[in-house]
Amino acid sequence: MMLERGSIADRYVALRQVIDAALRSLGRAPGSIRIVAVTKLQPRAPVLEAIAAGVQSVGENYVKEAESKLAGLPVRKHFIGHVQTNKARRICELFDVVESVDRIEAARALERAATAQGRTLPVLLQVNVSPTERFGVHPAAFDDLLAGVRALEHLRVEGVMAIAPAGATHEETLRAFGTARACFERSGGEVLSLGMSGDWREALAAGSTELRLGTAIFGPRPAKEAIRR
Ligand SMILES: *Cc1c(COP(=O)(O)O)cnc(C)c1O
Repeated sequence: MMLERGSIADRYVALRQVIDAALRSLGRAPGSIRIVAVTKLQPRAPVLEAIAAGVQSVGENYVKEAESKLAGLPVRKHFIGHVQTNKARRICELFDVVESVDRIEAARALERAATAQGRTLPVLLQVNVSPTERFGVHPAAFDDLLAGVRALEHLRVEGVMAIAPAGATHEETLRAFGTARACFERSGGEVLSLGMSGDWREALAAGSTELRLGTAIFGPRPAKEAIRR
């Protein structure tokens, strides 16, 4: 399905209005959360369009895509994909924050990269709250991972990220987000990255401070083959 010209801006403005209305109804301040526009599988043109419409943060799952697509863009870049240790150096070079630290080996690889680059890298710990998700630390192992990452000098734990179960009911989604929130409260951080295009309302109710929105902003993602070069 092709998008009409200008429709990304229209969609983004409308989306911010409904999100603000939802925040108000929860007694939360409008505009008080961060919206990360998830650009995976999108070409560069719609990403530029979204930035022109006011998007300030983008999220990417794949290093390879980020290299061609996000280079030089004046936005905050969030890595939200699986952290492969052999990609840690590039991730650290390309991104402002890594939301998907889910095991100590990944954290150590990022620590080595951040040390070499003389920077402190903000990270979120990804918690697995879903039987349908492959990645993320099990909630029972969260405290150990938190202690391990906190001991690393060049990483700063800013909070927690989680992905709700696919195809879950409203109640299941709320329960999963509640588990993530409990970990977040122990993290000492200020960022709770919960909520995608299909479940951002539940995420806001669960206290999310950051929504990661792809299709709600860009429309359906192109097939993987379409952007492969
Ligand atoms: C793809 C993706 C999103 C965005 O998903 P939509 O349903 O398109 O909003 C958010 N977070 C992560 C980790 C993703 O992989």
